[in-house]
Amino acid sequence: MTDCIFCKIVAGEIPSSKIYEDDQVLAFLDITQVTPGHTLVIPKSHVADIFDMDSEVASSVFARVPKIARQLKEKLGAKGLNIVNNNGEIAGQTVFHSHIHLLPRLEETDGLDIRFDTHEPDFEKLGKLAQELYLEA
Ligand code: 5GP
Ligand code: ZN
Repeated sequence: MTDCIFCKIVAGEIPSSKIYEDDQVLAFLDITQVTPGHTLVIPKSHVADIFDMDSEVASSVFARVPKIARQLKEKLGAKGLNIVNNNGEIAGQTVFHSHIHLLPRLEETDGLDIRFDTHEPDFEKLGKLAQELYLEA
């Protein structure tokens, strides 16, 4: 896609700090480095988000994640790593070429705070929702 910044990175029209590349997938350092080593893993083909992704592209992108995550952990001495994938503006997506954020966690005071608001479990509601969402394999 011509006006997509990540397609331009794939094409080499915009520079990036690559840490992994093969014929289908590219991983490069996020320009903002939310935590040290913050990396984006992207498909080389233009796919807007998870809703737009077929299983072949998903297999190639997600299959590379553990290997890249291990490299970040080992080389940076990270104690852990968060994986974030934003889909749609409401979910915080700003670049509409699908990407997976890998966020190495080197220390507790790194400023990253991913928190879930929890609710009391309502088992009746959970049962009904699961029925509604149930997807045949
Ligand atoms: P999103 O908010 O869509 O999940 O994440 C987009 C990410 O892309 C942001 O973390 C932002 O820093 C990163 N980003 C945007 N433009 C560029 C760029 O030109 N180069 C690199 N390396 N990262 C970028
Ligand atoms: Zn693109």
